[in-house]
Order: sequence, then C-alpha cells, then structure tokens
Amino acid sequence: MKQYQHFINGQYVDPVEGQWIDTIDPYTGKAWAQIPRGTAKDVDLAVQAASRALREGPWASMSATQRGKLMIKLADLVVANAERLAEIEVRDNGKLMAEMRGQVNYHPEWWRYFGGLADKIEGSVMPIDKPDMFAFSRHEPVGVVGALTAWNSPLLFVAWKCAPAIAAGCTVVLKPSEFASASTLEYMALTREAGFPDGVFNVVTGLGHEVGSALVDHPDVAKITFTGSDATGARIYAQAAKTMKRVSLELGGKSPNIVFADCDLDKAAAGAISGIFAATGQTCIAGSRLLVQNSIKEKFTQKVVELGATARKGNPMLADTNIGPVTTPAQYKKILDYIDIAKSEGARCILGGGPATSPDLPGGQFVEPTIFVDVTPQMRIAREEVFGPVLSIIGFEDEAEAIRLANDTIYGLAAGVWTENIGRAVRMSKALKAGTVWVNTYRAVSYMMPFGGMKHSGIGRESGVEAIREFLETKSTWISYAEGAPANPFIMR
Ligand code: NAD
Repeated sequence: MKQYQHFINGQYVDPVEGQWIDTIDPYTGKAWAQIPRGTAKDVDLAVQAASRALREGPWASMSATQRGKLMIKLADLVVANAERLAEIEVRDNGKLMAEMRGQVNYHPEWWRYFGGLADKIEGSVMPIDKPDMFAFSRHEPVGVVGALTAWNSPLLFVAWKCAPAIAAGCTVVLKPSEFASASTLEYMALTREAGFPDGVFNVVTGLGHEVGSALVDHPDVAKITFTGSDATGARIYAQAAKTMKRVSLELGGKSPNIVFADCDLDKAAAGAISGIFAATGQTCIAGSRLLVQNSIKEKFTQKVVELGATARKGNPMLADTNIGPVTTPAQYKKILDYIDIAKSEGARCILGGGPATSPDLPGGQFVEPTIFVDVTPQMRIAREEVFGPVLSIIGFEDEAEAIRLANDTIYGLAAGVWTENIGRAVRMSKALKAGTVWVNTYRAVSYMMPFGGMKHSGIGRESGVEAIREFLETKSTWISYAEGAPANPFIMR
C-alpha cells in the first residue's frame, strides 16, 4: 500500500511522530493508501519553512512577473498530469471521474488568471493634502497562509486558495481533509517541477483537531483560509482571534432552487437534479431546497422524480455512472439519519429514502437519491445542511413568498432561479441573500467570478480579481521633502 509523506520545504518527509492514517476508497470501502498523521511538531516545521521562504531566499526577492511565470508553468504541468490526479481524487473521495477530470483540467485556469494578475497589484500615489509630502500606498503579502480544505474537491480548493495567495507573494501551509489528502500531496511534486522555491508550498496532513488546530494557533501564520462546515468554521474563527489572524471562510449552505411557473420546465428539472444529485449531493452549493410555484408543483415534481429515478449508481470511475458513493462512513450515517428525521417529522418520501444496496455496489456507502414532499420550512430537512442526495420540495404562491422562504435560512451561499421573465430574474437576484445567484442555470463556477457566502455560509470571496485582496495588507508610506525648520512636534501633521 502506498505510504504518503508530508511535503515540507520542498521535500517529502515522514511525520515527526511516525504515525499514519489509512485513507479509504469510498467505492470499495477498503484502504488504498496511508497519509501521515501529523502533529503540531510537523506544523511548526512547515510554518518555519514558509516563514523563511517569505523573509529570505529566492521567493522573497522574486519579481511579481517571475512569480506569475512560475504559476503559469504550474498550470501547464497540472494539465499534463490531469488524468492521474483526477484518478487519485476519485479514489480518495468517490466523486465521479467525469466530474473530477473536468475539474482538474479546468482548475489550471486559476493559476493562469492569478499568474497574470501577480504583477498588476498596484498601489496608489495620493495627491496628498499636506505640503511637501510624497505619499503612496503599496500592497504587500499578508504573510504565511494556513489553508484548510474539505474533502469534496481537494485540488480545486488548492487552486482557489493558493493561486491568489501565491500571486500576492505569500507562502502557504496546506492542511487537506484527512479523508482526501493524497491528491494534494501528489500535486506538490508539480510545484517543485514548476520551479517554486523550497518553502513556498508545504502540506501537512492529519486530523482536524490535531494538525488543523495547530495551524490555526501558530503565531507565525498570518492568515487562515478555510473551506469546510460552518461548525468548524465558527470554531476556527474564534480560535484565530487569539493571534489576530485574518480569516476567510467558505462554509456550508441550504441553497434554494426556485422554480417559477413561467420557466422552461425541462431545463428547470435538469437544473433541480444537477443541484442536488450531482456529486451525490456532497457539494456546498447543493440546491437542497426546491421551491416550486404552486400552480405547477404537481406536474414539476413528477418531472423531477422521473429524471431523478434515471440516475445510475455505481463505480465512480465509469463514464455512465451518475451517483457515486458517499465519501465517509460518518457522512453516510448523517445522510441516513436526516432521511429518518424527515420521515419522523412528517415529510413524505416519493423517491429513494434509504441506503442503496445492489450486488454491483461493493463495500462502499451508497444512498438512494431521495426526494421529500410535504416539507414545511420549519422541518430540520428544510433548515440543516445534509450534504447528500436528499431534496426537499416546498411550494410557494408568488414572488414575495418565494423570496421570504428562500431567505429564511441561516445560510447564504447560492440560489437558483428559473424564470423566462427578465424583470423577475433581476428582482430575484437583488432580493436573494446569497453570494451567488444562478438564473436558468445551476452549479456554474469560474476563476473570474467571485464566489463565497453571506451569513453563516462564510466570510470573504474566492476567485475573481477581488480574491487577491484576501492575501494582501495595505501599507501607507509618507515621505516629507520639506526644507527648513522642523515642524511643531506637538501638533499632528
Ligand atoms: P470539516 O469542517 O469537517 O473539515 C474541513 C477541514 O477542516 C478539514 O481539513 C478538517 O480536517 C479540518 N478541521 C476539522 N476540525 C478542525 C479543527 N478543530 N481545527 C482546525 N481544522 C479542523 O468539513 P468537511 O466535512 O471536510 O467538508 C464538508 C463541509 O464543507 C460542508 O459543510 C460543505 O458545505 C463545506 N464546503 C464548503 C465549500 C464552499 O466553498 N463554501 C466547498 C466545499 C465544501
């Protein structure tokens, strides 16, 4: 069985305490590799390496243009290795090869986009209102970045977090999820091949409350960028306050997918399925609340059920599989618990509603794509993030009620709107409390489009030009060129 190592200061190294964790293939339920179970000692070594690289050596003196060139080189290397990396991701998290291949092939765009941006981080010269004074601002890297990621799209998160951080001139210590660390570790060899100096990228793997927590506590880490659950995000936010770290959080959601009677029902049905059954529902942007206008509710529900019933469960490596396994045993149990809770609270299950078992599904954890009707907005299934293929259908009468129901959640990550009425599309986009609103589409992301959550779905934005600001500090410099006598020292200038 393959045994991975941490990546610290440009080298693959064993964990200081010499402990490993099995990493399981969710499709077979069997261990296929081991990753280091790091401790605070490994984190300290990685942070020291990242701090050194920031202060001295080639990275510290490299021009922003050169940084950008390395990033673009890395993008090309990722493309050349995309198939291999995607296969590792599928083994680790059980998501579909078709999706992961697409993700790994697309994510180099983040390196290209932010690589191009690296030498366009400009400060300003102020037309300052003081005599004989030259005043300018510049943007500097915030420092060592601690990047903690979730298991559902590990490499995409590496690009989302590291591309703007590296473009800004920061160095990074990554802590991927203990359930899917292998692809991030493999990826590090490419950063070395691209020519990044030692210490710019580091990866320490292990458990959240051990390695993750040590990274959040480390006094030499200036910024934490996190993707994961809102419960962990809140803990990290509080913990990071002790060392006054900058924090950005990409958290969970309970996104509404809102279907108006005037929309193209076939497209909306496909959008509803994409919103909840793609990635086996294990996506932060899952459209887990399907709000349907009452006048079409029955007809539309029927369409969604018919389409949902065609989803093929199976080996995630195969091209014709639609639904792969759930990634972890804990997540599998959580999904099944939520299905039971929904039933006990009076929701009516009209598709699926339990574990999927068939001879061609070995070992792994499979859940039937599940749809509930008769869901009320107070039920837990309508309020809490399940992170699985479980859809709640709720009716609404008019636009005002759709907005009220959609916003009646602690989350605010994304929302879908299906309508042919352009005025309604614009009104809804304005009224919805969500970081992303998709109209007549769902689950679209791009390197140039800011992504992030409102309310409990997070703080800050990834992607798009503004993402780079998350990794910069602004410094203001004042230079007096006044001649003559010194100014009065007791009066503010
Ligand atoms: P999680 O919160 O359990 O773990 C995320 C990361 O945090 C992992 O690396 C984990 O090891 C680490 N961690 C756990 N406890 C920690 C602690 N005490 N201190 C420091 N680090 C700790 O989340 P998950 O189960 O891996 O991922 C699923 C969640 O992620 C869902 O809620 C989903 O909505 C969210 N998510 C959000 C986005 C987004 O961009 N908004 C994207 C994908 C997933």
